[in-house]
Parts: sequence; structure tokens; C-alpha cells
Amino acid sequence: MSSQPLLASSLASAIDAGVAAIESKVIAWRRDLHQHPELGNREFRTAGIVAAHLKALRFDDVRTEVAYTGAVGLLKGGVPGPVIALRADMDALPVDEQVDVPFASKVRAQWNGEEVGVMHACGHDAHVAMLMGVAEVLAGLRERLPGTVKFIFQPAEEMPPEGEEGGAQLMIKQGALENPRPEAIFGLHITSRLPTGVIGYRSGPVMASSDTLRISVLGRQTHGAMPWAGVDPIVAAAQVVLGLQTIVSRQIDLTREPAVVTIGAIKGGVRENIIPDSVEMRGTIRSFDEAMRDDIHQRVKDTAVNIAKASRAGCEVCISKNYPVTVNDAELTALMLPTLQRAAGAEQVMLIPKVSGSEDFSFFQHVVPGLFFFVGVTPQGQDPLAVAPNHSPRFFVDETALALGVRAMAHVACDFLEAPAERRALA
Ligand SMILES: [Zn+2]
Ligand SMILES: [Zn+2]
Repeated sequence: MSSQPLLASSLASAIDAGVAAIESKVIAWRRDLHQHPELGNREFRTAGIVAAHLKALRFDDVRTEVAYTGAVGLLKGGVPGPVIALRADMDALPVDEQVDVPFASKVRAQWNGEEVGVMHACGHDAHVAMLMGVAEVLAGLRERLPGTVKFIFQPAEEMPPEGEEGGAQLMIKQGALENPRPEAIFGLHITSRLPTGVIGYRSGPVMASSDTLRISVLGRQTHGAMPWAGVDPIVAAAQVVLGLQTIVSRQIDLTREPAVVTIGAIKGGVRENIIPDSVEMRGTIRSFDEAMRDDIHQRVKDTAVNIAKASRAGCEVCISKNYPVTVNDAELTALMLPTLQRAAGAEQVMLIPKVSGSEDFSFFQHVVPGLFFFVGVTPQGQDPLAVAPNHSPRFFVDETALALGVRAMAHVACDFLEAPAERRALA
């Protein structure tokens, strides 16, 4: 593609004025959502606020209850043009808030059979508020908008409760990307890892795939003083844990992409002098390449089963694939980079390293080309690497950062709609 940057959208100055006018509303929405967080597939209040807002803006269509609590709104511009989608996730996390703000969450709810505190510890409250802001800014310019913008408010990004479907995958299954199908989709995430005013981006694989690993090592119970009378699953499990660590360090090509195999839970036995029947382990696998991901899965199974076998123990390995690799389309990223630079200021847009967290935005990118970027929320003067990260009970959002998210998203939307068809087609 040509390296010639897109000219500023003819709507650019109107967008900037609209964002400035709406900033305080976005902050108020975010505070309200923050004080009333809802867990995945339970975003009833949040979805109600979103749907009412889109209807009040006289959207052309507002679908609700998509993937249980999702909302999909359609804003048709007054000028013919392509269709794009913008996405925000809506769910909170089972975290007890420890941030000292007047609108801190005191909400408690049930999560997988346990009572938990609920907090917007990943910043999805800010995502919803910012996308509501984008909706209002673009709705105010709809007569001049050259195309259609689909607004996707998605539930359960942090995984639905156990035993339930949900999130991006279910929204796609229920037609969120059809009628009309967008040419491209854009999403953002706020992050403690960047300061306020900074946008982080990366072309290609940007966030990891995420898979859940469950291993049962099956021995035969015996007296702790007579291990030879049974099969000890604890020592076999210990060998399996160490063996699994050699997959990333010794077997895969780390010059191609990094990967992680973590065992995060290990459970077996009830007292010191009984060798138990079995040990259960749980872990997570991260990768940045789908072929490497499948290869690692096979190696995890082979390693665990064969190491256990050497001790005469049985071994069951179950890997559930959660989220694919989040891959930013290279042409689309190149096309939109000048827009991000214009929204934030060129020196405020940073190429960031890969993120080993995962995102179900990746499912949307499997259907249409997508770009997912990051907006910093750590106050100026604080060290982004030292402050409490996303998911921490002390995760703090500098609200002065939100206007940039609104501006970036609104400009991205308009610039893509205004881009010549031949340049969009490359994406
Ligand atoms: Zn999160
Ligand atoms: Zn998140």
C-alpha cells in the first residue's frame, strides 16, 4: 500500500469539538458504571443504560440481548459509504475494590457458586463510557457521516461463568457481525502500563492466545510410610510440572514467538502420612501463533502422560481453548496509524511490546480485519510499571485520559469511512 498518510477527515474538527463537549458526560457515565459493576453475562443494568442511550440518539437499529446482555446499535450516516464496527466490553471482575474514590464499588455478587466483591478492575467501565461518547459524537454528525457505524457492546469478555457460553464468540454466533457485515472492526483497552495521553499499538500478533489446562495425575493411595505399596501421584505431579517447563525453554522456537506454560494450582492429599490417589493441577498456556499453540498443546499432553507413565501413574490432560491470538491486520494498522498519531500527537503514539494477556476481540478479527489498540490511564508523574495493574483491587483510572480514547475511536471510524475504497480493500 501507499505510505502516503490519510488526509485529516473533513469531519476532524467537528469531532474534536464534539469530544470536548462530551468529556464531562463520559466521566460521569464511567463513575456511575464503576459504582455499579456487573459480572460477565449479568450486565443487565449496564446494557440497559447503553440501549437507552443509543435509542435516545435515534440510532437506526438497536438490538439487545445479543449473547444474553449484549447490545448492537446501528448508526447510518447521511452519505453513502462502507460499514465499520466499534466494540466495547462491559463486564467487571470478581475483585474487592480498594481504590479510595467516592464512587468505589461496594457491590457483591455470586460467581461460580461463591460470593465475591465486584469491581471494574479491568477498566471496561471506561470502555463502555467512551464508546457511548463516540456514539453521541458521531450521532451529532450523522448527516455528514459517509457510511454506517455498528456499535457492539459486548458482555463477558473476562469469560462467562462456568458452564455458560458468552462473550465475542457468542455474539458472532448470534449475528452481531452480519446485517450488515462491517469491513473492519476497531477496539481499544485502557492500560496502567502507559501514561495518560499515550496510545500504544502493534501490528500483527499483539495479545496472546489463552487456553486452560487441567491435568489429573492418577496414582494409587497408600500409607505415607510405604510408598512402594501404591503409586505416588504427588512426586509424579512434581515431575510433570518441571517437565512442562522444558516445552517453552527447550522445545519451541522462541525466536519465532514467545510462549508461556504456567501451572497455577495444584491440589492433592489431605494429610502428611497418606499418599493420595490423585493430584489435580490447573494451568494456562499462552502463545502468539496458532500453529505454535497447537504444537504446544500436543507437547503438553505427551510430556505429562509420558512422565506420569514412567512412575506407573495414569494421567489425563484436558486443554480447553479459550481465546485465539489477537492479531492486528497489518494493512489496517498501517492505514490507521496516522489517525492515531493525529488524535494523540505523533510522539504520544508508541509501538508497544506484545502483551501476554488475551482478549476475545480476537474472535471478531477472525471474521473481519480488526485493529485493537491501547490507551494509557496512569497519571502523569507516576511510573506505569510500578502502579497497580489492570485486574488489581487498586487499579486506578486517570479519567482525564478518557477523552483521548473517545477522540481516537471517533477519528478512526471517520477516517476509515472516508478512506478510498482501494485503500480499505487492502486491509
Ligand atoms: Zn481483564
Ligand atoms: Zn479487559
